[in-house]
Amino acid sequence: MTTNVLSFISLLIYLSLVLLPLGISMGINLPNRPWLDELSSSLAMIGFNIVLIEFWLSGRVKLLSKILGIDWVLQVHQLFARTALVFLLVHPFMYTLPSQPVWMMGAAQQNFIGLTLTSGLTGMLSLFALIFLIGLALTRKSSEISYEAWRLSHMILALTIATVGFIHTIDAGRFAQEFWMKAYWQLMLGLAFLSLFWTYVVKPLIQNKNVHEVISITQVSMRIWELVIKQPATKKMNYQAGQFAWLKIGSSSPLSENPFSIASCSNKNSSDIRFLIKDVGGFTHQISQLQVGQKVFMDGPYGNFGTEAFSAEHNQLVMIAGGVGIAPMVSILRQMERDQDAKILAKKILLIYGNRVAEQVIDLKDMVHLEAFRNLEVVQLVSEPSNDWQGLKGVLDSTTLEKILSSHQINLKVSQFLICGPAEMIDSVETSLDQFGAPLANIASEKFQYDFGKRNPKNKRCVISTILGSATLLAAAIYAALH
Ligand SMILES: Cc1cc2nc3c(=O)[nH]c(=O)nc-3n(C[C@H](O)[C@H](O)[C@H](O)COP(=O)(O)OP(=O)(O)OC[C@H]3O[C@@H](n4cnc5c(N)ncnc54)[C@H](O)[C@@H]3O)c2cc1C
Repeated sequence: MTTNVLSFISLLIYLSLVLLPLGISMGINLPNRPWLDELSSSLAMIGFNIVLIEFWLSGRVKLLSKILGIDWVLQVHQLFARTALVFLLVHPFMYTLPSQPVWMMGAAQQNFIGLTLTSGLTGMLSLFALIFLIGLALTRKSSEISYEAWRLSHMILALTIATVGFIHTIDAGRFAQEFWMKAYWQLMLGLAFLSLFWTYVVKPLIQNKNVHEVISITQVSMRIWELVIKQPATKKMNYQAGQFAWLKIGSSSPLSENPFSIASCSNKNSSDIRFLIKDVGGFTHQISQLQVGQKVFMDGPYGNFGTEAFSAEHNQLVMIAGGVGIAPMVSILRQMERDQDAKILAKKILLIYGNRVAEQVIDLKDMVHLEAFRNLEVVQLVSEPSNDWQGLKGVLDSTTLEKILSSHQINLKVSQFLICGPAEMIDSVETSLDQFGAPLANIASEKFQYDFGKRNPKNKRCVISTILGSATLLAAAIYAALH
């Protein structure tokens, strides 16, 4: 199944799940209300359901990230959160409210709009918490807040929205008074709590029992370290090349963990697992200071980057790595070498490896037996070269990329592209490949950050799918309101 078809089917399943409470409400017979009131409660049900499903789309469900890829999961998480916000924001303003304040009305009228003090307060509190949560998420990078503090606040705000939103729904929701609807919201809230409990309590406890040990930590180029970890023999991770794991140092606390691509390939005779890590900040600096024998904790594998490299569908493979983005490429080449599949080893493979300075370049010969590949070519590119640099010079802009691809007779229509590195590089390469005519479905990338960044052609496609998906949700809400 192609990635496009899989993404489309997944989106349909997601939208069906989001619409479930609306379906339940349509099976409940209640006296008619003005259609705007009905639309308002339909939007509220959809919005709140999106919020509760978000807990499962935080990137920590291994199966989802393996089947759909971490990018798909997090893009749905980030983009549909905005749809939920819009639906929940308009919801209170659509009810046909009486003209005077609640406290000036008679009991009959108060009953009509149904807003008790609890309903009003819980509704406002959950809405403000949602606005605050999305605002913090959108401004995280430009603000001073640390990643760990942001993650803690994200979790607390999400819990608040779910709990207070649930109280509001049960208190104010007309349909929520009915058995099946109440049961649905209770189940969804329970599942949301379960996902947090699993990630923040159960997993750390399990990890505490499966301590991993540092075997070696070696500097392999400027600021890049190869970390080799011994896994407990009884708890060896079963991973595919290109996947990543969350690493923790010192304690298994879930608040100080960072994701890293695995640079080794799984091996039944060894429990060692390797990472290539660039020292860029607080956490990665600690990694470079690790001592042999020190304990670390690991959670994985996640993601599905690189799966396409092993498919027989494409007979040309172009890998494009920027800096430490070489890590999953090394893993993929190692797995190809391990498998000794003659077809794969004979595949035309072009590896374009860019760095800022020559000192950052990792010697690939130390990592992979390049001779095992019959048709592999490596092109090295450095943007600030010293006088003795032998490879290409410059950045991987559109002109340079086109020159490299055409000089290596890459057929853009039939090649599979794998890209990994800084987000700006990925955006620029994806935009160029799209302009050259490479099908977007043949481009897989792993960004070393979770932000839904600049609008490259793939991101634009996601935004369009989200707009169409949200329009479908709105259309369903209108349909339900009119019937
Ligand atoms: C799927 C994936 C695979 C990755 N693989 C590798 C790899 O193989 N090698 C490598 O060197 N780097 C890899 N990274 C990047 C690595 O996770 C970050 O460089 C590292 O987390 C930076 O943390 P820091 O505290 O050292 O730096 P900081 O300067 O504190 O953080 C730099 C930026 O990294 C991001 N970041 C920080 N902490 C986290 C966190 N806990 N979770 C997610 N993002 C965070 C934030 O956007 C932050 O602004 C990968 C990232 C992702 C998402």
